[in-house]
Amino acid sequence: MFQTSVLASGSKGNCILIRSRNTALILDAGISLKRTWAALDALAVPRHTIKAVIVSHEHTDHTRSAGAMARSLKIPLYISADTYAYCSHRLGKVEQWLRYFESGVDFIVGDILVRPFRSSHDAVDPNNFCFEHNDRRLGVALDLGQCTRLTSLRLSQAHTLILESNHDHNMLMEGPYDWNLKMRVKSEHGHLSNDEAVGVLSQVLHPGMQNIVLAHLSETNNLPDLAFKVMYEYLQSIRSEIKLQVASQHIHTALIDI
Ligand SMILES: [Zn+2]
Ligand SMILES: [Zn+2]
Repeated sequence: MFQTSVLASGSKGNCILIRSRNTALILDAGISLKRTWAALDALAVPRHTIKAVIVSHEHTDHTRSAGAMARSLKIPLYISADTYAYCSHRLGKVEQWLRYFESGVDFIVGDILVRPFRSSHDAVDPNNFCFEHNDRRLGVALDLGQCTRLTSLRLSQAHTLILESNHDHNMLMEGPYDWNLKMRVKSEHGHLSNDEAVGVLSQVLHPGMQNIVLAHLSETNNLPDLAFKVMYEYLQSIRSEIKLQVASQHIHTALIDI
């Protein structure tokens, strides 16, 4: 068994469950503990099976309850040293649970291999991830302004891909954000648009890929149906039968077999 559920995703908070039969872990704790526990309960995943929480970068939509989760469950908090230095004040007292990881250096939690790699994003040390168990691979690429060669290399063998589809370019440019924020979002250190997500997928698609979950949608500059449609039309154009779904800010996905 190797499964994932996006418990929540969007500009207001991200939290992803990954689990094997023996190990469960949480990537990013950007929603309240109360909501996280409710989602786990709904999925019948006992919280005592969570063996670690991993933080991708310091933005609040990824760190909100990371410290509280580590303390509450008495589990390791994996974070890069630079990210911790930048946001330690927000995590509270976690020294006892801290484990530093480095971009490009794999580590193991239980029986899951965690492979962090650098993403292109306006944070001190932003990471995307690949998770492996029994030759099955999950790629998670959120908070990236562009797909670098490293990104496509790391995602190229994923059987399930959780991929950012943050904004519709026109909605962003015609929307309420001020000019600087618009430029930040669309920059190579910002977030992927729906069209850019298609571009990433076209680079990393392979016959073994079975699931795509579009995630980190902006509630201001995107619509779930629109993000779905853009990717679905691409998949149809290449006659792909990959299962496609869109993660929500407000409700968890079902458990997905990776
Ligand atoms: Zn971010
Ligand atoms: Zn984010």
